Amino acid sequence: MHRELTQELPRVAYFSMEIGLTPEIHTYSGGLGVLAGDTLRAAADLGLPMMGLTLLYREGYFRQEVNAAGRQIENPDRWTPEDLLTPLNPRVQIILEGRPVQVRAWRYEVTGIDGHVVPVYFLDTDLPENTPWDRTLTHNLYGGDNHYRLCQEMVLGFGGVALLEALGQDHNIFYHMNEGHSALLTLALLTRRLEESGRERPTGEDVEAVRQQCVFTTHTPVPAGHDQFPPELVEQVLGRRLTDLMLLTDCCLDRHLNMTFLGLRFARYINGVSMRHDEISTGMFPGYPINAITNGVHAPTWTAPPFQDLYNRRIPEWRQDNFYLRYAVGIPHHEIEQAHAEAKRLLLQEVARTTGERLDERTLTIGFARRATRYKRIDLLFSNLERLKQIAKTVGPIQVIYGGKAHPRDEGGKDMIQSVFAAKKALAGHIPVVFVENYDMAWGKLITSGVDLWLNTPQRPQEASGTSGMKAALNGVPSLSILDGWWVEGHVENVTGWAIGDDKEAVADEAGEIASLYDKLERVILPMFYGRPRAFAEVQRAAIALNGSFFNTQRMLSQYVINAYRFAPRLERLKTSR
Ligand SMILES: *Cc1c(COP(=O)(O)O)cnc(C)c1O
Repeated sequence: MHRELTQELPRVAYFSMEIGLTPEIHTYSGGLGVLAGDTLRAAADLGLPMMGLTLLYREGYFRQEVNAAGRQIENPDRWTPEDLLTPLNPRVQIILEGRPVQVRAWRYEVTGIDGHVVPVYFLDTDLPENTPWDRTLTHNLYGGDNHYRLCQEMVLGFGGVALLEALGQDHNIFYHMNEGHSALLTLALLTRRLEESGRERPTGEDVEAVRQQCVFTTHTPVPAGHDQFPPELVEQVLGRRLTDLMLLTDCCLDRHLNMTFLGLRFARYINGVSMRHDEISTGMFPGYPINAITNGVHAPTWTAPPFQDLYNRRIPEWRQDNFYLRYAVGIPHHEIEQAHAEAKRLLLQEVARTTGERLDERTLTIGFARRATRYKRIDLLFSNLERLKQIAKTVGPIQVIYGGKAHPRDEGGKDMIQSVFAAKKALAGHIPVVFVENYDMAWGKLITSGVDLWLNTPQRPQEASGTSGMKAALNGVPSLSILDGWWVEGHVENVTGWAIGDDKEAVADEAGEIASLYDKLERVILPMFYGRPRAFAEVQRAAIALNGSFFNTQRMLSQYVINAYRFAPRLERLKTSR
C-alpha cells in the first residue's frame, strides 16, 4: 500500500485480550492472539499508524506437560517482561468495585520491513500501591473465574482508553475491538464524553459519537463462546453508575452484560472472519450489518527458512507485496519439492531432539496441532483404528504429528488429548504418532511447514476461520479439511487440497465425515503422494499460488483499511463544549 493512501488515516488502537508476538512473550493462548500479532506485524510492514493494547500476563497462559497416561499437567509459564519490554512512565487509574486500581504499561515495538514501528502496550496492575488481589489481575491469561475475568476486561477497556489519553494518543483515532473481551472500552469512551460535557444522561448523539470511533471483529460462531456476566456481578465490579449507563444505552441482554452485544451496539463497522462466519454471525445477530473480512497470517513470520530462500530467489517481491506469491506458478516443481524436503527435515530433527522419536523422511506425514477443545475434534482421525491401519498397510505408510493445549478447565479437551495417547498406543508398530508438548508459535511454524498434509476436522459451523491451514499453504502444504471457516473459500478439490465431506451445505454428519476422511486418504491422497509425486508437487505449488497469495494479513489489513478505516467520516476528538 502506498504512503499517500495511508497518511491521512486515523490512528488505530487495536485492543485484544491476547497478542502473540514471539514465542518468548507468553501473552497468547491460540488463534486469536496469533492473529492479533500477525495483524500488528502486517501494520508495521504497511506503515500503518496502528498500535496494540493488551494485558501483561506475567505468568502467561500455562506451560503444558503431558504424562505417560496422556493427562495434561499445567505449570505457570513465567517470562521476564523486564528483558523484552520497556516500562512507561504514565500511570493511570481505574475504579474497580469502588476502589482505585493503578495501571502502568510496558512498551514493545514491532518493526516493519521498512523500519516503521507499531508499538504494543501491555497493561500491568502488579504495583505495590494496589491490593494483593488487584496485583494478580494481569498475571494469568484466561485464568480465574468470571469475577477475575470481568475485572481483567475492565483493566483492558478502561485502563487502555485512559492510557492512550495519558500518552496523548487519543486524537483522530479508531478503537478496534478484536473480539468482545475489550468491549468495555466503549463505556470508557462514553463516560469520558459525559464527564467532559458535564451531562448525566447520554444522548443519542453521544452514543453515535462513540460508535463512529469503534470497529468490532467477532470471532466466535457459537453463542456459548461469548463472555457474559450476570447483573449482580456487573453491578459489583462496574458500580451503580456504569450499570445504569449500560441500561440507559440498551446494551444489556436480559440485564446481563454480553460482551459481543456491547461490541455490536457500539461499532460503526462490524465484521466476521470468513465468508461462512459472516453468514453464521448475521443469523445469530439479526439487525446488525455484519461484513466479512477473512483472516490471514503474516507471510514472512510463517514461511519456513527453505521457502523464504526459494521465494527470495524466484519472487523477490513477495515480502514487500504478498500478492506476488501468485507467481509461484512459475517455480519449477523440483524446487518446491526440495524446499519442502528441507522444511520436513527441520521438523523431524526437532521432533527427534525433543521427544526422542525418529520419524521417517519419506513417509506421508500428517500434521494436526491447535487448541484441544471439543469442537476441533482432534481425535477424529482415530475414529476407526482398524481402517486406518488397513489403509497404511495396503496403500502406503502414514505417520502423524500432534500438538495442542486444552484450557485448564476444559475437561472435554483434556479427554481428547488422552484419546490421542490411547490411539498412539493402539497404533504402535503400525502408524507412528508423536505428540509434542507445549504447542506454541515455534512449534506452530515447524509443524505447519514441515508436514506433507495438514488435517483440520472441526465440527461445522464452529470454526470461524482457522489459520493454521493458511500457514501450511504458504509452505506448500495442502489441507485435508472439513468445509468450514476459511476452507470454504480456500478449497479447490485436487488443486489446493481436499475436502472432508463434499457438500458444504449438507447437515453436518459425523459418520459421513469420518468415512470421507478415510476415503480421501485411501483413494486420492496416498496414491497421489506415493504414485504420482509430480501431481502432488502441483498441488503444493497451487496451495502457495492460490492460497498463500490471498490468506495473509497484508491482504486482510488492506481490506480493513478500505472497508473499515479509510472511508470513515472525519473523526473529531470526543470532546464537546460545556
Ligand atoms: C496458528 C496458531 C493457532 C491457530 O490455530 P487454528 O486452530 O488453525 O486457528 C493456534 N495456536 C498457535 C500456537 C498457532 O501458531
